[in-house]
Amino acid sequence: MRKTISFVLALFMVAGISAQTSAQYDELIQVRSNNGKAKELNTCLSASVPVQYVLPEEYEGKTIVEREVDTYYSGKKTLRMQQAEDGTYILVDPERCTYTLEGLAKSDLTRYDVVSDETLAAHTASFIKNAKPKMDADGDWDFFELKQVGVLGFEANDSVDLDTCRMNYIFWLEKDGKWLFSNQTYGDGSLVDTVPPVEMLINYHLDRDSTYTLKVLHRTYGGKETELYSFDFTASESGRFQFPDSNLIDGYYEISRVPNHALDVHYVMNMTNVYYKEVHGRNSFDNAGAPVYAFVDFNDPVWYGEWTNNAAASSIPPYFVAVGCGSKWTKDLTNFGSFDLLAHEYAHLVVAANGRGGLEATGESGALNEAIADCMSVATDFYINKDNANWQIADGVTGNGIPNMRDLSNPKMSSGGVFSPNTLSYPQPDTYGGENWVDPKNQNYDNGGIHFNNGVFNYWFYLLTEGGSGINDNEQSYEVEGIGMQKTEKLLMHIILNYLTPRMNYAKMRIASQSAAIDLWGEKSEEYAQVANAWFAVGVADKTPVDNVETKTFNVYSAKGNIIVEAEENEIIDVYNLLGQHLASVEAQSGFTSIPVANNSVVIVKVGKDTRKVVVK
Ligand SMILES: [Zn+2]
Repeated sequence: MRKTISFVLALFMVAGISAQTSAQYDELIQVRSNNGKAKELNTCLSASVPVQYVLPEEYEGKTIVEREVDTYYSGKKTLRMQQAEDGTYILVDPERCTYTLEGLAKSDLTRYDVVSDETLAAHTASFIKNAKPKMDADGDWDFFELKQVGVLGFEANDSVDLDTCRMNYIFWLEKDGKWLFSNQTYGDGSLVDTVPPVEMLINYHLDRDSTYTLKVLHRTYGGKETELYSFDFTASESGRFQFPDSNLIDGYYEISRVPNHALDVHYVMNMTNVYYKEVHGRNSFDNAGAPVYAFVDFNDPVWYGEWTNNAAASSIPPYFVAVGCGSKWTKDLTNFGSFDLLAHEYAHLVVAANGRGGLEATGESGALNEAIADCMSVATDFYINKDNANWQIADGVTGNGIPNMRDLSNPKMSSGGVFSPNTLSYPQPDTYGGENWVDPKNQNYDNGGIHFNNGVFNYWFYLLTEGGSGINDNEQSYEVEGIGMQKTEKLLMHIILNYLTPRMNYAKMRIASQSAAIDLWGEKSEEYAQVANAWFAVGVADKTPVDNVETKTFNVYSAKGNIIVEAEENEIIDVYNLLGQHLASVEAQSGFTSIPVANNSVVIVKVGKDTRKVVVK
């Protein structure tokens, strides 16, 4: 069986300062070329067994405890994790198959290396095995941040050349003699003999109990720097601290505690597993209890490079979800705790492990892949978060005044209706081929516009769920009666498990969804009519629904222990049980083809686009 292997970029969220934008675009393209390399791995990895994460011995056999923690994005939540005898907590819950790990790979490889399939597979397996569970010694999951540094001003003396004195300070942070961060203030250029107070926001992530060196320098006209002060501090408590000696300069530095977004990641993976279990009867994303590896602060050099301001899912085994630690310039890592954003990544795993080869991450199939991830994410959000859920993805976390990355209920208003270079989010089309549509063949532009053109399916799913009316970009007026999320999420899962093909496009998806609606509710059902109706609304069907019903292409009869199929010679006959599990695939002979099935069972027979349900007696 074929498996799609691709690294699915989810967000293209780049909230860096604007000066970085062009460089970040370059990164985007390089990630795509990495994507291409992964695809060649296809056949090699499909035969390999997914790597199982093995807990270090010291964590084995620990009991699962529930702890209330303060997540950044989801608020106070009860989280399931393990506790060792020494009180250490790790974000591991084998019962719910969720392992929240530190994604800091150690490798000599870089993303620019051309490596063999085997090397890349071995690399991926090894970083999963070597990843550490996110751990906290005392259950206090916050981390520290150097928030602000200020100097209270100084009077020039012998160490400062009055003739060239400007109000320019440089704040400089080091660890073990290695530069980490610096930033400077700018005065108005006038000569001064007393430098006024100045403060600067730093927002630099500190490791607990590590010691850092903070330097304050004064820069004169002509760029000459004088070190005014240098001292060491340890990140162990929050507060505002004076510089330890004010011989020449008075000032302070402020350290604050920041919630740890690993808690959000662990929470969302946990609850998303609960959603798929309770709503779809699934045991983890592959229905075989696979562990969900979620890497936080992910910076694997091969898969991710330095491009840490994004979230992604690997659709090759071993499957994993990864979130970066935010832009290295802005450190806006808390963005990655957003529930729907993480549930989107999880849904990529569901598609990738559907047993049918998932969806290729380019062109129209790539757009459908992003759309399914968006729609399943929203369905998860509504089930878990109920009244707090909505139809937007990453709403309120993109910064820069952009309200969301995507709005399924109004794709043209995704990203607030404007292209946002800082978050790389965009207005999307709501009509196939309409406004904001990207040529799916343009591989140099978001792999064929996969994060644009998903808007069409997203809107189809929204209309089918909630209903709506309007005029699409083809100037056709439409009206769709919503059938409700409980039905649309079932329909979507049925499509994922029974109808997806790796290179599916919108036209095939329309037919697949109509077949799925017939499986679930019958051809004469209201649900079927609205599925077709919604496709008309988004411009994928150009006629009204009834005309689009596919004509029967085969006949099927029940016989004792067999079904007899009358279909065109060489057509593929697929047989499924009512759970959607694939039972048989047989090539039709001329005339009648007999296929053995269990007595007293009900099976679904599929030939081409046509599907029938048969009771076998
Ligand atoms: Zn995605």
